[in-house]
Amino acid sequence: MNEKKKRTTGSGRRSCVRCGNHNGLIRRYGLNICRRCFREVASSLGFTKFR
Ligand SMILES: [Zn+2]
Repeated sequence: MNEKKKRTTGSGRRSCVRCGNHNGLIRRYGLNICRRCFREVASSLGFTKFR
């Protein structure tokens, strides 16, 4: 009865849709990707470099 953390996909836990981790997730623009992948995707989308 100590199930605090359940592995549920969808609502709640969000992770990068590209690599799967949640290291600095960016949900901006509805991308749901980590900042690492964001750099790659950003350039692909036409965004300027993040820092
Ligand atoms: Zn990623």
